[in-house]
Amino acid sequence: MKSENKHIVVVGSINTDMTVKSGKLPRPGETVLGGVFFKNQGGKGANQAVAAARLGASVRMIAKVGKDAFGEESVASLAREGVDTAGILTDAEHPSGIAMILVDDRGENMISVASGANLALTPEELGAVEEIIRSAGIVLMQLEIPMPVIEYVARMAKQHGATVILNPAPAPKQQLPPELLAHVDILIPNQTEAELISGTAVNDYESAAAAAGKIGQMGVRTVIITMGAHGVFVYDSESGNSEIIVAKRVKATDTTAAGDCFCGALSVALNEGRPLNEALDFANRAAAISVTRRGAQPSLPYLHEMSTR
Ligand code: ADP
Repeated sequence: MKSENKHIVVVGSINTDMTVKSGKLPRPGETVLGGVFFKNQGGKGANQAVAAARLGASVRMIAKVGKDAFGEESVASLAREGVDTAGILTDAEHPSGIAMILVDDRGENMISVASGANLALTPEELGAVEEIIRSAGIVLMQLEIPMPVIEYVARMAKQHGATVILNPAPAPKQQLPPELLAHVDILIPNQTEAELISGTAVNDYESAAAAAGKIGQMGVRTVIITMGAHGVFVYDSESGNSEIIVAKRVKATDTTAAGDCFCGALSVALNEGRPLNEALDFANRAAAISVTRRGAQPSLPYLHEMSTR
């Protein structure tokens, strides 16, 4: 693959997750005392960048944070993970993205996200980071930043010969623009996202094949539907070939960020020039490790934890 030795460029979101765990969730207007507070780094973009960096890739991130302590802390944390943060812009008007998470003892949760600076990123400012996009073997994106930015980056990345990978998460509220899909080499939806994009409910391998076929017709070359403990369904629209890769059998304790881990890991293996089937196995193994551990970024494995490569 031509992308060997190039960087993985993640264009996506950075959030600070603030969680309060308490005995019960408050009702509207109610105050619940006695909770415990946790602060974690998050945002799908940052999670996927960290996943790829821990697995040994050279990762550069393009994103936007506010001019505040949360943003500074997020950028410092990414840098500690080995992610090149030179492409992270600072917005003077909008605060850094945060997610407020309330969890009760049974694991029931309520989440409210203030995307802030993540949604203030514009295609016009990307000229300043074009050199970073040009350096990409793989450009990896999700849907937590403005759609015009995603479309612009996908077009530019294709022009420069990079492989464009889109994880359409969180589930898109409206149809993805056809011009965008035409520039996407690999789309990695989970079952819900695949259903929303294709209009076909995905409950088993057969329905996954139907959904993947429809997404392939939209112009995407390779469709990888992640199916939790059932593994992944892969469809190549050019050859018409499809394949099922079963998940590793592990005792799952927390599947938060499993998809992020999968996308980051797949990008690492493809960027090393490994064939798709090997890259899928690598991603499957990395994601299986992540579901055995709690949290988002804390659950992401390091290269030395991957037993066989
Ligand atoms: P998302 O977290 O985006 O909803 P999935 O739940 O489909 O994505 O999980 C992504 C990938 O993580 C799966 O394709 C699989 O490789 C791995 N995975 C998820 N859940 C499990 C599980 N219970 N056991 C083993 N692997 C899992």
